[in-house]
Amino acid sequence: MATNVEPAPESTLPYPPIHKDKKFVVLSDWDGTITTRDSNDYMTDNLGFGAEKRRQGNLDILAGKTTFRDEFRRMLQSVVENGHTFEECKEVLKKNISLDPGFKDFYRYCKEHDIPIVIISSGMAPLIRAVLSNLIGEEDAKEIEIVSNDVDIHPDGTWEIKYRHPTSGYGHDKSQAILPYRDLPDPPTVFFFGDGVSDMSAARHADVLYVKQKEGGDNDLAAFCRRENIPHILFEDFGHALRSVSAIVEGKKSVKDALAEGRA
Ligand SMILES: [Mg+2]
Repeated sequence: MATNVEPAPESTLPYPPIHKDKKFVVLSDWDGTITTRDSNDYMTDNLGFGAEKRRQGNLDILAGKTTFRDEFRRMLQSVVENGHTFEECKEVLKKNISLDPGFKDFYRYCKEHDIPIVIISSGMAPLIRAVLSNLIGEEDAKEIEIVSNDVDIHPDGTWEIKYRHPTSGYGHDKSQAILPYRDLPDPPTVFFFGDGVSDMSAARHADVLYVKQKEGGDNDLAAFCRRENIPHILFEDFGHALRSVSAIVEGKKSVKDALAEGRA
């Protein structure tokens, strides 16, 4: 598939080795997908310049008026400008971010069926690690790899996001986590889960794209997929997603049929 016409952006951060010899691999967005709400939205709304500006920023990204990289940096900068340290943000998020109600069962199923789960996030690794350990426990959290952005914390206590792909308008071009699987001699089926503008770079490249749809939520990825005619499966939570994924894994349903149904 020659859909990726842009040259691959250089990564400033390492990748974990890809999972060779697996039949299935789960790659998933973190914020608002594995968690019920987006931690960066939460910080921007409550500690930064507020929900209204943040929402407009996401709509501008969706409309192509600005890039995710530049707008997301602006959102996080508003948190720093209000004097919030990175450690303070971590504590606030540990208190306020919760797990998708079906994720633990989904995680168990994947573990039992030798399906790796890798988090592919535009968030910052230390925040994701802290919240993930808090939600599923240190032991399970250690087994989940994270491919994300990072943070630079300055001596004066201010901080800024460190992008994995600073030359890409996505900041973290999530397709770069999927494409190496395509080059394997016997590639696995790649399931990708996402919900928002940060997943636009991945949307075209997964074998099976699951798009989380939340009542009263922003649902920007669903809007993007509709507009761009990208086949996808809507899901409410990982409990619903598990029914769809397990049917494919156990050979009860083909990927084609699952995508044609369009809903988990
Ligand atoms: Mg998200």
